[in-house]
This record gives sequence, structure tokens and C-alpha cells, in this order.
Amino acid sequence: MSADELKSHQNRRFRELLRWVLSRNDYYRKRFSASGLTQPDDFSSIEQLQKLPTLSKEDFRQTYPLGMCCVDKEEIREMHMSSGSTGSPVVMPYNEADIEQWAECMARCYVMAGAVPGNPVQITPSFGLFNGGFGMYHGARKAGLFVIPTGSGNTERQVRLAKDFSTKILCGVVSYTIRILEVMRAIEVELPCLKIGIFGAESFSEGMRKRIESELGIESFDIYGMTETGGVGTLGMDCPFHNGIHVWEDHYLVEILDPVTEKPVPDGEQGEVVVTSLTRQTLPVIRFRTGDLSKIVSREKCDCGRTHLRIAPIVGRTDDMLIVKGVNFFPKQVEHALLEIPGVLPHYQIVIEESEGVRDVRINVEADETVTGYMVEKHLKERLGFSPKGDVFKPGELPRQEGKAQRVFYTTREQLNSTK
Ligand SMILES: [Zn+2]
Repeated sequence: MSADELKSHQNRRFRELLRWVLSRNDYYRKRFSASGLTQPDDFSSIEQLQKLPTLSKEDFRQTYPLGMCCVDKEEIREMHMSSGSTGSPVVMPYNEADIEQWAECMARCYVMAGAVPGNPVQITPSFGLFNGGFGMYHGARKAGLFVIPTGSGNTERQVRLAKDFSTKILCGVVSYTIRILEVMRAIEVELPCLKIGIFGAESFSEGMRKRIESELGIESFDIYGMTETGGVGTLGMDCPFHNGIHVWEDHYLVEILDPVTEKPVPDGEQGEVVVTSLTRQTLPVIRFRTGDLSKIVSREKCDCGRTHLRIAPIVGRTDDMLIVKGVNFFPKQVEHALLEIPGVLPHYQIVIEESEGVRDVRINVEADETVTGYMVEKHLKERLGFSPKGDVFKPGELPRQEGKAQRVFYTTREQLNSTK
């Protein structure tokens, strides 16, 4: 689609969206009347989007369970939910059209990664309230793939099935893929048919991407989407040119805003990703603040031929930025720096120790015998501008997790001393 065609398509869908929510939901009606939008035709183009208020996770919590729902409950066919660390969970209900929309977005991701009908795809996230498993399933059905719905856990069986059924595409989270790699080595199984990895839900560094690609012999893709936007793959993915994540702009509008002022930042500058879903019916979001930090990479046509804009891989979330001794950083930057050290393995923990209001960082990392704590400390100091303490563990010593990995731990020095 040319840029002009896309724009008029977005404008049409934007007007339909406003008409839809205003005629069906009181919560939206009240919020919008304060911005001068009472009649659907008051706003005719996406240029006016910025006059509308933003939506936050807090709005989801306040309207739990179905306060923002725009269809009759009888029409709902499925729901997913993210737990969040505080307060009520975020619920996303779907009607038949929403499941189809999800399948369409996710199927595009598979096709963009190089999948063709009949390819075996192994789906390793759990099939439950977390949206990953079902989203990857709906999309795979739509793309005509052969679904191997292993879900999470039982890693040895996972590896054996991948071998026996010649899995070509592996979907899941990066941290679990590292676990799979470890088990492959332990049981001496290789997976020569595996060519594509589609990874989401955790932000991972370029260093981690390279490590996994070379060790598994695959090409990896960074998929984007979350519970509030309708699940995995709804927002987009990087194409084989790996120069930013293409956003499915015929379904979603993306703004990059300054998290404090909520004003748009210039292209190329980092800000918070704010999303409007143009085509969801049951619970569309309008200007949803994702908390994810990214920037516009390009609005120009990509070398792959797609015209949908590209955003940078998510650097982190506004709420997972760490501040230690006046230095701001994201866990992903620590990961990237660690993996630059030869002999370091992709298993690590970032421990924030607090004592009398003063924070310190300790990095626990697995590595072979050539790596010392001093080497880790020196390298991180060069890369991050502060000096964490580095503790090197032998391979296999740090705990393993089967879902999304927890990388950051908080402790007080008092707790630490009492456990010694
Ligand atoms: Zn592209």
C-alpha cells in the first residue's frame, strides 16, 4: 500500500473506531466528552488523535473485568489476561472478528519470517491465560502451518519432538530457547531442520540474538504485541532485513511520546510507545500507553518492499529502568555488555542491593573458567559507566526458569547477611 492509500485507509478506520466506541461504551463516552468529542463525526482524521486522552494500565484495572468491553458478553469467544505485579489483572476479551484479526496479524509475522504452508511450527509458550500460546496457534492455523503445540516445560521431550517432526519454526521467549539449547547439548541432539526463531514477550539484546542465531543455526525475529493490544504479533515484527519492527499500520496506529509531557517526540528520538487499535471490536484501545520505550527508525519504504513504518526493538519499559548511583540503565544493556565477554554464558542475574537508601548492583553470571569477576567488572564499567560487583558462577549453577526469565532481583544487605 502506498503511503497515501494507507493514510486514507487509517482515517476511514479511525472514524469507524470512534463511532463504534461512542455508540457502545459509557467509559469511553465519558472520557471523550471531556476532550470535545461527543459526536463520532466531530473527529474526521488521525491528525486529531492527539486531542484524545491517553489510556493506561490503571484504566484496565479500574474497569476490571469488562468495563471497557464494547460487545455483548454473549458475543465473547475467548479471553486472555496478564497478571502484572500489582493490582487487578489486565483482561482482553475477543469476539470472533477479533480472533480473526489476531490470526491475520500473527500469520503475517510467520509469512514475513519465511514460513510456507505445511512447515512444522513448535509453539513453546503455555496455552493458557497468557496470550502467547494461543496467538501463535491462531496465526499458524491461518498461515497453513503444521502446529506442534508443545506449550512450556518438559524440555527434553520438546527437543525430541522437534527432532522427530523436523520443526522448522520455533516460537517462544528467548530465555526458554537458551534452556532448549542447553538440553540439546546435554542429550546430544541436533536440530538441522530448525531455521526460524520467533521470539517475543521479553526484550533481548543484539548480543543475545547473535548468540542464539549462531548456536542454533537459525534466523531470529523479534515479535511485538501485548495483552492490551490483542496479544502476540498484533503490533508487528522485524522483516528479514532486520532494520526495525514493522508495525501493522492498517490495524494499529503508533505514536512515540515523551513519557512525562505526553507530547510526540521527533522521529529517531526515544519515547514511550502509545498504541491505538483500529480494527478490534470487543476491547479496542485508543492511545494506550504501553510503557515500552522505542523510537521511529524509518517511515520510508523498507528494502523488503513494505511501507509500514519501523520502530526500534524495545529497549526496555519505563518501569524497568534501573537507577543506581545516578546512572540510568536497562537490564538489556547489561545483557548486551555481558555477552561481549568471550566465555560468558547467557545465564545471569542482576541483583540490586539496597542498604540505608544506597543502591549497589551485583551481577551473577555463568562463565567458563577463563572468566574472572574482575574481567566482568572491568568490562561493565567500560560499557555502562558504573562498577557493579561481578560474581562468576560455573555453568549450570544459576537457577533455570521455564517461562519468561526473571533477571532482576532486589534485596537488602540485611536480608543478604541473614541468609548467609
Ligand atoms: Zn522490511
